[in-house]
Amino acid sequence: ENENDIYFVCIQNFKPQFVKMDCSYTEKEAAIFEKILELIITNDEKCIASRVVFESILANDLKMTQKEFGEIMARFHRDKWIESGPHNTIILHARAILEMQSFIMDTYRDDIYNCQICTRLLIRGLVCSNSSCDVHMHRSCAARYFLRLSNSTNKKSAYPCPTCKKEWNKNDVDSVLKTTKTTNENSDQQPTTTAVNKRQRTSRNNNNSTNNRSVRSSARQVISESDDDN
Ligand SMILES: [Zn+2]
Ligand SMILES: [Zn+2]
Repeated sequence: ENENDIYFVCIQNFKPQFVKMDCSYTEKEAAIFEKILELIITNDEKCIASRVVFESILANDLKMTQKEFGEIMARFHRDKWIESGPHNTIILHARAILEMQSFIMDTYRDDIYNCQICTRLLIRGLVCSNSSCDVHMHRSCAARYFLRLSNSTNKKSAYPCPTCKKEWNKNDVDSVLKTTKTTNENSDQQPTTTAVNKRQRTSRNNNNSTNNRSVRSSARQVISESDDDN
């Protein structure tokens, strides 16, 4: 119970490799997905252009035509492993982040964050504008946090970082609050106004609202034989 360390407890035993998670993909397709995962997570923007993925595939001797590439990318989209990101890029779908969580945390420890609010794995999200502060938040968590601030004080302009208290980037605040109003996303999670220390993680993955919903709605193809060791 060392509070200075970050522990990750993964409740569900998903296979580290994509091909073992979804046997309907060939090994080559799985290798492509893992390449996409790597390119996205190691990119500072946490997104990648399809063209870069294709070039990288060719550079890695995963022989494939442009047409085949288009087809497999469409399938990754359809199966909710990836989705469209900003400026014609692709990003990881919440399904990929949740189901491949342990693999991502083991493999890309230095390229990922924990959300300051919910403490869960965060790939893309908001970051504090104070360069000496390392606070990151999921957009949905930030929305609840900012919403609570806007409801609890009459000063609608005061949206401090939960840790360093520097005023949060106004564009971020406006954008997440706008999204919240239009989608009216509800949640039974309690927002937190004070910093949530990164601490041993014991909560289950499946009480998060948005992410989980999309994951649950996507049909998983489960092949049982020889695929549930450990
Ligand atoms: Zn969060
Ligand atoms: Zn901060």
